[in-house]
Amino acid sequence: MPSERQIHVGSVPIGGGAPVAVQTMTKTETADLSATMAQVRRVAEAGADIVRVAVPRERDAEALKTIVAESPIPIIADIHFNHTLAIKALRAGAHCVRLNPGNIGGPEKVAEVIAVARELGTPLRVGVNSGSLPEHLRQLEFDNPVEALVTAATETVELMERLDFQNFKVSMKSTSVPNTIASNRLLSERIPYPLHLGVTEAGTKWSGSLKSAVGLGTLLADGIGDTIRISLSTFHAEEEVKVAWEILKALKLRERGPVLIACPTCGRLQFDMDSVVAEVERRLEAYDDPIEVSVLGCAVNGIGEARHADFGITGAKDAGMIYSKGKPLEKVPTGELVDRLFEQIDKYYERGKVVEIDEAAAAEAAEWLAENEDATAMTPERLAAMEKAAAEHGPDITAPAPLDEAQSPVAGRRFTRA
Ligand code: SF4
Repeated sequence: MPSERQIHVGSVPIGGGAPVAVQTMTKTETADLSATMAQVRRVAEAGADIVRVAVPRERDAEALKTIVAESPIPIIADIHFNHTLAIKALRAGAHCVRLNPGNIGGPEKVAEVIAVARELGTPLRVGVNSGSLPEHLRQLEFDNPVEALVTAATETVELMERLDFQNFKVSMKSTSVPNTIASNRLLSERIPYPLHLGVTEAGTKWSGSLKSAVGLGTLLADGIGDTIRISLSTFHAEEEVKVAWEILKALKLRERGPVLIACPTCGRLQFDMDSVVAEVERRLEAYDDPIEVSVLGCAVNGIGEARHADFGITGAKDAGMIYSKGKPLEKVPTGELVDRLFEQIDKYYERGKVVEIDEAAAAEAAEWLAENEDATAMTPERLAAMEKAAAEHGPDITAPAPLDEAQSPVAGRRFTRA
């Protein structure tokens, strides 16, 4: 369920049913204008809706004026400990200021910041972090870390409301994925404000992406979360943005750019699919449309799970085939598959998203498919489909004749028919 309330960070709506916004944070020294602006432009290009910059020094607050003026996307100033910097960031035109009321020096100083935010109509992001909960919650943190986080966040919200300020979103960060999930579920039931989600200090690109996908993906699938940031230990902030988009695309919450489908490969593979997939992925970066492109390692399963793809290729040792929406288009030498695939895609766009079918080429491709397809082979896709059907409806009487026990795929021994 989306948050009840909505705020605007610059032109970007957050919460209240708005699309989940993608955030990241620059990793440069903010006052280094050329480095910071280069990174801001890169993350905007990668699809960030909003970007946060650290403001730990006076010169960073000074630099904000230029950054805000030149940035293609809204800027959030990230402040800790120093409420005068928060006020300077607001006056410099930051579209939002993130602060943790627990470390800013007491409610009076929070009130000073809020007075300026209210005057300028600028929202705040307030929140708590599992690493810095207030003193009076230390025992609760030990006994029940989730309740401690939620209590700290709720107390922050109550402080904002006492100060008659509602133009804010809330974040509650933990390094623990289960605690991130449990605490945000609880908090979303208790407050009407937009939630910013993230697993803090998630780790490297590999482990951090997985932790974030599990933690944030679970919450987003429940409809919880209005803006997300993937925290990765990399200097390349645009990598965080790409991961955020993959999570949103996987959940069909937002669309951006092509979707690539690729089979996991198996012992039937006869060409260098790793390189082909990497090349297809690289070339697809030039397209903005959410076109679906599939790469299959072989045609033994026909077009199989990829029959809904807008375009796809399936290869073998010497030749492969290009298809569209489950229909063969042309047979191509394996080495030319990627080039021809992109020629087909470009023609499709030139014709206003119409697939051109050359009947002779399509017939040759269909013949190649019939030669390479094996309707009886127990491919990973067919096994998965059979297991799914069996789980839903019991054994399928229309399935190919059973394999003898020693060859049963269920026993995980061999996948080919006797
Ligand atoms: S059987 Fe499936 S997984 Fe194996 S190479 Fe062919 S398409 Fe890929």
